[in-house]
Amino acid sequence: MSSRHGSRQKGIIVRSFFLDLRDRTGIIQCVGGAELKDVPTEGVLKVKALIKERPERMINPHVTTGSIELEILAHEILSRSETIPFPIDTDGYEIDEELRLRHRYIDLRRTRMTHNMLMRSKVLLWLRNYLSALQFVEIETPILTKSTPEGARDFVVPSRLQQGKWYALPQSPQQYKQMLMVAGFERYFQVARCFRDEDPRADRAYGEFTQLDIEMSFVSQEDLLRLTEDMFTSLVRELFPEKTISASPWPRLSHALAQEKYQTDKPDLRKDPKNPDELAFCWVIDYPLFTTQSKEDYFHGSGSANLAPSHHMFTAPHPDDVTLLDTAPAKVRGLQHDLVLNGFEVGGGSIRIHDPVIQQKVFDIIGFSKEDSAQFGYLMQAFSYGVPPHGGIAPGIDRFLMALLGEPSVREVIAFPMTSGGTTAVMDAPSMISLQQSEELGLLHNGKKTEKIEQKGNS
Ligand code: ASP
Repeated sequence: MSSRHGSRQKGIIVRSFFLDLRDRTGIIQCVGGAELKDVPTEGVLKVKALIKERPERMINPHVTTGSIELEILAHEILSRSETIPFPIDTDGYEIDEELRLRHRYIDLRRTRMTHNMLMRSKVLLWLRNYLSALQFVEIETPILTKSTPEGARDFVVPSRLQQGKWYALPQSPQQYKQMLMVAGFERYFQVARCFRDEDPRADRAYGEFTQLDIEMSFVSQEDLLRLTEDMFTSLVRELFPEKTISASPWPRLSHALAQEKYQTDKPDLRKDPKNPDELAFCWVIDYPLFTTQSKEDYFHGSGSANLAPSHHMFTAPHPDDVTLLDTAPAKVRGLQHDLVLNGFEVGGGSIRIHDPVIQQKVFDIIGFSKEDSAQFGYLMQAFSYGVPPHGGIAPGIDRFLMALLGEPSVREVIAFPMTSGGTTAVMDAPSMISLQQSEELGLLHNGKKTEKIEQKGNS
């Protein structure tokens, strides 16, 4: 792609023309004769050229390729561009975000956004290599699935084959990864897409986000914390050497202490929050197993007691507090761990319950009726065939990258995020569906019941 034109007067008669040529690795200056004069900006160009050192006085020390240029021998215009809707030679924060998202494929051409995407790719590859070297197996789990109780609202998809029934998009692969432990994989991970219908915030994309979902058998909470800490410390050292981690080992705070000392369970422990290269990780542990959040807020309908799980209903109670499940459930601590970075919760996990008797007690405490618990019958059945003790964690990739790249919002590290109004970038979903689609799915069409479309024609 080409941009910026200029010209250099050489002597009296020879005139050189310049343009910047951009590919995925960066920008290089091209120099040629008058035939370059009409090359369109932001079009696509094929060139045959010689790489040359620039004349001394033309060296630009502020640009990576500033000491060289391409001397164009021949060129071909492969495609032209309309005038682009906003500039891409700035960092782009000053431009209306909705406009940037509507033309995200152009917005992604800006150096900052290209860099964010490249770093995202590098981070994911690095994590995959790291975990694979430790014998973790990457396993994909279904997207069209059943509602999972992570405490948010579900996105649902109507079934055509089983009319009147709905799939839910996974809020996380929680139950699948637990079943993979029953299946004997012992070390699982997945770069998992999760879907939650929660209001967007700067640190939370609307609709979908990506987690590094991890589950392990035969582990203690200590093993999980160490794995995560070693993994992210090595990642930062290798991919972000300019960053410093404030404290190592990472501080561990009990939930009670964090609340008392910082009035939050996501404390920002940076020594100097204005320093963009400081990373302050910490763990928050010893959460109460249950909160007094209302059942409507947590389950959106199920459950009838005034206690709801702090993390999710598969989190194991602290072994020292098991007897309190019967006498004072609000006092039971859970084996939950939250990972906090610079004041953002970037991940959470727990040691899971693998004893059906304790799981039933938790269902009872949160007021699950027989029918509610039956929703998890398959998990309980899986556990009846031999379940190893297990636990896991799921660091959020978007938030982690947002903090590492010093971005003000998770949307800056996602290629095609949704707008704050819940419409997708570029494509304008959600949208109406056709009458025929509604009929096939047995749905109301724009609020009205539909009759089957009559076959027209001669019989
Ligand atoms: N499924 C949990 C979540 O999405 C993470 C975990 O417990 O591993 O928060």
